[in-house]
Amino acid sequence: MKNFFTLIAILFLFCSCGSQNTTLPNKGKSPSMESNARPKLVVGIVVDQMRYDYLTRFDSKFGDGGFKRMIREGFNCKNNHFNYVPTYTGPGHTSVYTGTTPKYHGIIGNNFYDKEIKEMVYCAGDDSVESVGTAHNAGKMSPHRMQTTTFGDENRLFTQMRGKTIGISLKDRGAILPAGHTANAAYWFHGLDEGLWISSTFYMNDLPQWVKDFNATEKAESYLKEWNTLYDISTYTESGTDENTFEGGFTGKEKATFPYDLKALSKDNRGFDILKATPYGNSLTADFAMEAIKAENLGEDEITDVLAVSFSATDYVGHNFGVNSKEIEDTYIRLDKDLERFFEYLDATVGKGEYTVFLTADHGAVDVPSYLTSVKVPSGYVDRNDRKEKFNAFLKTTYGSEGIVENISNDQIFLDRDKVKDLGLNLIDVQNTIAMEQLGYKNVYKVYTATTMSTSGFSTGLEELLQNGFNQKRSGDVILVNDPSFIPYGRTGSTHGSGQNYDTHVPLLFFGKGIKHGETFDKTVIPDIAPTISALLGISFPNSATGRPLGFVID
Ligand code: ZN
Ligand code: ZN
Ligand code: ZN
Repeated sequence: MKNFFTLIAILFLFCSCGSQNTTLPNKGKSPSMESNARPKLVVGIVVDQMRYDYLTRFDSKFGDGGFKRMIREGFNCKNNHFNYVPTYTGPGHTSVYTGTTPKYHGIIGNNFYDKEIKEMVYCAGDDSVESVGTAHNAGKMSPHRMQTTTFGDENRLFTQMRGKTIGISLKDRGAILPAGHTANAAYWFHGLDEGLWISSTFYMNDLPQWVKDFNATEKAESYLKEWNTLYDISTYTESGTDENTFEGGFTGKEKATFPYDLKALSKDNRGFDILKATPYGNSLTADFAMEAIKAENLGEDEITDVLAVSFSATDYVGHNFGVNSKEIEDTYIRLDKDLERFFEYLDATVGKGEYTVFLTADHGAVDVPSYLTSVKVPSGYVDRNDRKEKFNAFLKTTYGSEGIVENISNDQIFLDRDKVKDLGLNLIDVQNTIAMEQLGYKNVYKVYTATTMSTSGFSTGLEELLQNGFNQKRSGDVILVNDPSFIPYGRTGSTHGSGQNYDTHVPLLFFGKGIKHGETFDKTVIPDIAPTISALLGISFPNSATGRPLGFVID
């Protein structure tokens, strides 16, 4: 009898499980509906050095198909910020795609001091791989220093490597870090006498035929032409005068004024590299990205692909001419046209409403301090040599030698911890003593120690940003912050790197499949982007993502 009831019970369980298995899929959306709901292609666009106010300042000059199309059809996060220091290109691109900050992803600068090998390293440099497409060393690159995954990586894992990921940028780091560890390819531009799109053996042993064909078209050559303003320069009322003392300009041309004969100037400005500091660098990037979509069949089937495109020319133009220049205004007007062309291409190939785009930046930029000073805004230039001299004298009198400091980079002081031990000193005491000394120096605004960063929890202000940028294994012992609008830089052009609003406030636009129409002034942060795209795709978040999915942008 007992066996009989057991048998009945087992049969009952078996049947109910069986019936559950057959009925479950019908309860919700069918799997095919789920996959139809995903975009065929996600395009991430990073505009290098794009401040939020470029969207509003140049608004009257933009057409309907570029930035304004994204705003009109999509979602505009108007209070979007970087939530860490330092705001550089390598950390910026990494944070957008990994959904976290240098504290976790490990890219603490473009170049940073490696405490283990005691050398400066480049964020995307990798001597274990070779260049592909050039004999120069410019291809010896990979994402190996990035310690966490990107949403592209998670999409690759989710789709059993069937969804492709490709990264494209004039800058190696702008292509490599967004594309992630599992990318099919990353391509970047090698200027000088070559003007070629290249890659590394991390991805492939030979360039695909379509890249070779593109390189053979001499498209890059065709942009070595005259650069004049797209519209009559007298209508460029949103920027300063063309001729002023705040701009760098090109070698071989006395004044930084339009027009620029790029062909003639290229000889004294590193050949094809001159394109990087003109809007044509962005046009060339768009041309190449469209070719990649066609040749790699991106967005062709239901399995989501990821294309990471970074427009880097904006950064070079900003560094050279400054955020208030006519050159910057023209560069954004022309980028708007390139975006329009790019979106129209996506409509035609992937299909309207079948792809999703986000657009953001890797950092903002400060107005040229010499310009700000001329209009009475507190600003200026940090004298690093003066600081170093004082500091070395202090180290000698206090510790008997300068050798206790191993490296100073990215406004961080790295101590030789073995030497600290050998001298019988307490590490925390040394950190604090140095921090107090530094705080007395000109234009030093704030100073924190590694111990403070590791033992206190900050949830507001600059301290929170510093902590999000602080990586225990990679960051220095003492961290400095310069006065607002004071930069260690030349007297012309703009730069970035701080935690001030001019460097942290950047656009965040979403549009396309699965995106609502709307706008918000609620604060969003860069690490929110990757979890939002992951949520849209229904895939795992990048493994160390700290951001949150922006539910209000998803339809
Ligand atoms: Zn950048
Ligand atoms: Zn100018
Ligand atoms: Zn830059």
